Amino acid sequence: MHRNHWYDAGLPNIWLPYAQMKTARPPLPVVRTQGCRIVLADGRELIDGIASWWTACHGYNHPHIRDAVERQLAQMPHVMFGGLVHEQALTLARRLAGLMPADLDRAFFSDSGSVAVEVALKMAVQYWLNRGVRDRVRFVAFKGGYHGDTTGAMAVSDEDGMHGLFRGMLPEHFIVDLPDSEERTVALTLLLERHAANIAGIIVEPLVQGAGGMRMHDAQVLRRLREAADRFDLLLIFDEVFTGFGRTGSMFACEQADVVPDIVTIGKALTGGMLPLAATVARGTIFDAFWSDDPQAALMHGPTFMGNALACAAANASLDLFEREPRLAQVAAISEQMAHELAPCRALAGVKDVRVTGAVGVVELERIDDLDALRARFVEEAVFIRPFGDTVYLTPAFTIEADDLSKLTGAIAKVLSE
Ligand code: PLP
Repeated sequence: MHRNHWYDAGLPNIWLPYAQMKTARPPLPVVRTQGCRIVLADGRELIDGIASWWTACHGYNHPHIRDAVERQLAQMPHVMFGGLVHEQALTLARRLAGLMPADLDRAFFSDSGSVAVEVALKMAVQYWLNRGVRDRVRFVAFKGGYHGDTTGAMAVSDEDGMHGLFRGMLPEHFIVDLPDSEERTVALTLLLERHAANIAGIIVEPLVQGAGGMRMHDAQVLRRLREAADRFDLLLIFDEVFTGFGRTGSMFACEQADVVPDIVTIGKALTGGMLPLAATVARGTIFDAFWSDDPQAALMHGPTFMGNALACAAANASLDLFEREPRLAQVAAISEQMAHELAPCRALAGVKDVRVTGAVGVVELERIDDLDALRARFVEEAVFIRPFGDTVYLTPAFTIEADDLSKLTGAIAKVLSE
């Protein structure tokens, strides 16, 4: 592999995510991205199957988003959000309110999905405190779930997942099975009958649990959760950090269940993957509990870079693209193509399941013994596909050409049959 000076000089000073630094293969030096291509320092081009952790939904370097960010850069890259606001953030908040169902119309901006989840949890707990209800400080969350790497978010993620090590430092919540059967629905009801007085809300990734294993459930599960939340007077939080902005086939996953959650978290594709930005969007009923003459009733949160003007400009430009270009039709086409082209993997030895929802395509294996080797094998095939756990998956940009998508699915079929 061709190495640049900056690579050799800087590598001893970097700490990479989720990586055993001693044994992990050296990371690939990237010098450029364009559309669905990642260009490496040695000139190799990889077709991107992941869209940078599911963010780059219009492909990389989309000129419309780039132009918007450049214009904003010349005018005002950032200004603090305490006591000050600006056009990009207010316009984005208004547009998000228009896109989300019912009265989900109050956006609190932050800089990452994990922080958006932290804010949602605090918002839910303080909602009850502001209404004079104490002790509602715990949450119901689900096995297979993942909500981020900060402590509050870890505590509502599956404890058997990557956060198990930290159990001792985390508040305890109820991590249970999704109500995807009669039996599990009854189990959830029994839990709520016993503990609802201590529970602030239910948090779930709607339709697809992402980083916990790309597990999929149907809309009925979400309707059951809305019913349970209504019956036991709990807030329902949908974490749409992964599923939001078309990934599951509708702009937001909640639309497919015709369910209105009380709080929604979004991030990742909010800026089309150009810049970090997230938001916690609340219904009017939630916001009303904070509307008071009492300063103590205010939401006590405020990330330094919240409402960053460059990021909000990118997000507004990304929403323009959703309006102007047929993104949801593209997702439907990708979905169909992936379902068709990944189906033969079912017959391969070691394959446990093949499933597709929207532009998420998954081949789950019995087990993956050497993740690093498998990842490297995909690079040899000139594709960037990054399996985790037992899961090989595709979450391509919605703008990917059918030929490129075929190369991604073809590489999976080829490598898994070896
Ligand atoms: N929530 C969900 C559903 C996610 O998939 C993720 C990230 O993968 C997060 C929250 C955390 O987002 P971030 O990595 O931006 O903190």
